Amino acid sequence: MAARMTTPPDPTPRSDSPSADGWSDLAALDAAISDCFACPRLVAWREEVARVKRASFAHETYWGRPVPGFGPEHPEILVVGLAPAAHGANRTGRIFTGDRSGDWLFASLHRVGLANQPTSVHADDGLELAGTRVLSAVRCAPPDNKPTTEERDTCAPWLDAELGLVLPSVRVVVALGGFGWQASLTALARVGAVIPVPRPKFGHGAEVVLALPQDQQVRLLGCYHPSPQNTFTWRLTEAMLDDVLGRAAAARLRP
Ligand code: SF4
Repeated sequence: MAARMTTPPDPTPRSDSPSADGWSDLAALDAAISDCFACPRLVAWREEVARVKRASFAHETYWGRPVPGFGPEHPEILVVGLAPAAHGANRTGRIFTGDRSGDWLFASLHRVGLANQPTSVHADDGLELAGTRVLSAVRCAPPDNKPTTEERDTCAPWLDAELGLVLPSVRVVVALGGFGWQASLTALARVGAVIPVPRPKFGHGAEVVLALPQDQQVRLLGCYHPSPQNTFTWRLTEAMLDDVLGRAAAARLRP
C-alpha cells in the first residue's frame, strides 16, 4: 500500500502543471499530486477550509492539499469518485476518509470483502483494501463539490498518469456518479481503450466492457455516488451499493 504523506500544508503557494507523462511509480506520483497548486480557485478554497475548519474539527490539523489515491500499487479494481470533501479527505488527507460518503463506501467495500474494516475515520486507522484503489477525478476539494470544467481538465493529467501506472493490473473500474463515469471513460480512451459509439451512458448498474491494447479488457461499472444527497433520500441504498461493488469483487476474481 502506498505510504501516506504527513507533511503539513506549506503556507507558500507554488505553481505547478500536472503531467501525465514520465511517471515510473505511484509513490512519486502521489507526492507530486499532493504538491500541486495549478488551480488558483481550488488552492484558495482548500486552504481556506483548512484554516477556518468546521467547529467539530477545530482541534485537528487539516490536510488542506490535493488528495492522492489510496490502495495497493497493483489493483484489480479502481473506484473513481468526483473530488475530496472539504471536511473529509481535505481534512484527513485520505480519499473518502472522515465523511459520510466514505462511511457508506468503505462499509460496503467491507461487506463485499474488499476492505479489512467497515470504517474509514483517519489516515492511520489501519484500513487496508484488497486489490482495490480509490481515487477521485479531481484531487482538490471544490466549493459546493463542483469543480469547473477548466479545473476538471487541468486535473485530468493526474488521472491519466495514475491510470497509466496501474492499468496493467486493472480489470474493473467502478465510476461513482456521472462525473466519475465521464472522467473514467475519457481517461480510459486516452490510455488506448476503444470507446463504443454511441458513447455508453451512465446509470446505476450500467456496465460496459472496453477493449484495451494487447488484448486487455476492462469492465466499467456505473454506481450512484454515495453522497448524502443520494443516501439520505434512498436513491442509493446499501443493497444497491453492495450489488455494484460485489459485481466488481466477483469480476476481480473471475479467471
Ligand atoms: S484540482 Fe488537480 S490540478 Fe487543480 S490544484 Fe488540485 S491537484 Fe492540482
